[in-house]
Amino acid sequence: MGPAPGKPRFIADAMLGRLAKSLRMLGFDVLYKPGIDDVELKRVALREGRVALTRDHEIAESSLPIRIVFIESDHLEDQLVQTVGELDLDVSGGLFTRCIVCNVPVEDVDAASVADRVPPYVLETQERFARCPGCGRVYWAATHVENAREWLSRVLGDADGATGDAGKNDDGGAG
Ligand SMILES: [Zn+2]
Repeated sequence: MGPAPGKPRFIADAMLGRLAKSLRMLGFDVLYKPGIDDVELKRVALREGRVALTRDHEIAESSLPIRIVFIESDHLEDQLVQTVGELDLDVSGGLFTRCIVCNVPVEDVDAASVADRVPPYVLETQERFARCPGCGRVYWAATHVENAREWLSRVLGDADGATGDAGKNDDGGAG
């Protein structure tokens, strides 16, 4: 299943910077401007049809016709679990499709065009690269992607998280 066309977009309040980045990492469009005031935040949510994520009770009690998720925890993992659970988010397939800094979709590029931006061993071992058109940051499927996947499946309790040990055969053959 590819990403649903009706994927929700978000705007996060000043206290939720890490949650914003985590959701971007999952491919979601998340506006985050730490200096934005409450009124403006709600206005943007209304105008752009964004779900407002907030730790602020006053923002959460809005009469505007906007979807607001009051985030209950200070802990990133709980925040992510709550957001994904409450909105029934499809988190498959979107990992590292969006720049976590700029919040814009990254573009697939070939190895040659990023040769001066990634370490040589990465160039040799990776085939697929993506670049942020905003900041130029280059993303590739490396250990940080694996780490992120593991973290997410742990946090979100992915159903297919049961990856048995792949055999720890470290007993050297004694010829
Ligand atoms: Zn960027």
